[in-house]
Amino acid sequence: MVEYHASLSAEASAFLSGEHRLYIDGCWVEPMKEGVLHVQDPAKGSEISRVAEGRAADIDRAVIAARRAFENGPWHAMKPSGRASIMLALADLIDRQAQVLAEIETMETGKPLAFALGSVRSAANMLRYYAGWASNLGGREVPLSSAGEWHAYTRREPVGVVGQVIPWNFPLSMAVWKIAPVLATGCTSVLKPAEQTPLGALRLAALFEEAGVPAGVLNVVPGYGGDAGARLAAHPDVDKIAFTGSAETGRSIVQAALGNLKRVTLELGGKSPVIVLPDADMERAVPGAANAIFFNSGQVCAAGSRLFVHRKVFDNFVADVAVQGAKMKMGHGLDESSRVGPLISARQRARVQSMIEQGLAEGATIVGETAPIPDGKGYFVAPHVLADTNPDMSVIRDEIFGPVVCAIPFGDEDIDAIAKAANHTSYGLAASIWTQNLSAAHRLSNRIRSGNVAVNSHAIADVELPFGGYKESGWGRERGSEVLNHYTETKSVAIRLD
Ligand code: NAP
Ligand code: MG
Repeated sequence: MVEYHASLSAEASAFLSGEHRLYIDGCWVEPMKEGVLHVQDPAKGSEISRVAEGRAADIDRAVIAARRAFENGPWHAMKPSGRASIMLALADLIDRQAQVLAEIETMETGKPLAFALGSVRSAANMLRYYAGWASNLGGREVPLSSAGEWHAYTRREPVGVVGQVIPWNFPLSMAVWKIAPVLATGCTSVLKPAEQTPLGALRLAALFEEAGVPAGVLNVVPGYGGDAGARLAAHPDVDKIAFTGSAETGRSIVQAALGNLKRVTLELGGKSPVIVLPDADMERAVPGAANAIFFNSGQVCAAGSRLFVHRKVFDNFVADVAVQGAKMKMGHGLDESSRVGPLISARQRARVQSMIEQGLAEGATIVGETAPIPDGKGYFVAPHVLADTNPDMSVIRDEIFGPVVCAIPFGDEDIDAIAKAANHTSYGLAASIWTQNLSAAHRLSNRIRSGNVAVNSHAIADVELPFGGYKESGWGRERGSEVLNHYTETKSVAIRLD
């Protein structure tokens, strides 16, 4: 019998200790071959739950169900307003269960409960936003130049069966980011959550039937990337694969998708710059820069992991960011005072620690004092600010995915030179610019090669704004109306009238 954190609700602990199967074709089913995922509380380094492991053969079953639901049955015939009502019902169910869903997210990721709750609420709102789109996916009338009389128009049709593979940093909201456009457009999905965090998606799946999602439309198959995930990416009857995770896995997804040339969208990592000009409002910029990297222990694709600060204010600024980091209380996500949780696993902790060590060996230095690690077996890494880095170091080049920011000074160069330094990365996901100078803000925004730029803020998470990467940060956009293009095909129809 596992001992859970004292403040965990009875409902959440009953869920964690319950049995967890695969959700395929509207039913909870055993995997074809026995296998178990061991889910941990990363703040304690101990097992909290066991989940059935789906493999390639289970993915095949789920794809058959998703195909059937797409081609026949109630989903095929459902009107946009019907899909919208299901999405609104699911949003209400998520809101009603927000506390339990957030506790589950905290238990499997280690993040502070308040952040988990914010993430759950935003997931519900995302469904509401896309519910509005379900009825707005029409095509347009097209005037033709060909001789004769014509009526020509376009239709936007669902792309079909979609495979979706997600990471562990935001288990519930990542799942909703993926399924919301599926429901809005009339596609069907097989979702594979991350091996470390299958619980959020499974708890979500338990709400599908009550919300009115017909069997087979949304299937959830937890499993390992190399087996279940790879099968989904390669599956000949999957029309599109949507992936969020590392650039390295993104490359294998693309390779696997070649077989049937399925559509691919990728939401990959980043090495996002935070640029502080000397006229910035420092009262906002210091905590802004600290949160840009330390939120979710730096396990955020848009994390501001390269901090460019004007030489005039550099020393004070980076010292202040280090103090903010050291002040953020590390601890179990269910302790109310915790601001920074652990990393997801022993493996990620080892990876981040070795990247810090490599940076120090190459000449980087730690700014200020780092906070002591909480007692116990949790996978904590203290917030770190590194200085004395240069563009060739691995800490500057590679995504660390931990609470580690590299501070880099700049002088009185022009805007082009600052942008060039910020763009010196293979990634291009997010950026933030801190200044009161309107012209500098616009000119820098225009020159930054990334999918998202924020001024006097970092990584705005509104559902209305498209989100995605330039360069090796990905293909395509999520959120906003843009994601709907990736879940629909455009058909043109021309009718000769005369
Ligand atoms: P990952 O390998 O990219 O995992 C993301 C998802 O892809 C997981 O569901 C994973 O399954 C699955 N996957 C792995 N190999 C696959 C394959 N060959 N085909 C299909 N799916 C596959 O990331 P990770 O190993 O958890 O973390 C490693 C690094 O990736 C991190 O340090 C970080 O730099 C980066 N990362 C970035 C993001 C982001 O949001 N940009 C998120 C997570 C990680 P498993 O659960 O079995 O691995
Ligand atoms: Mg992996």
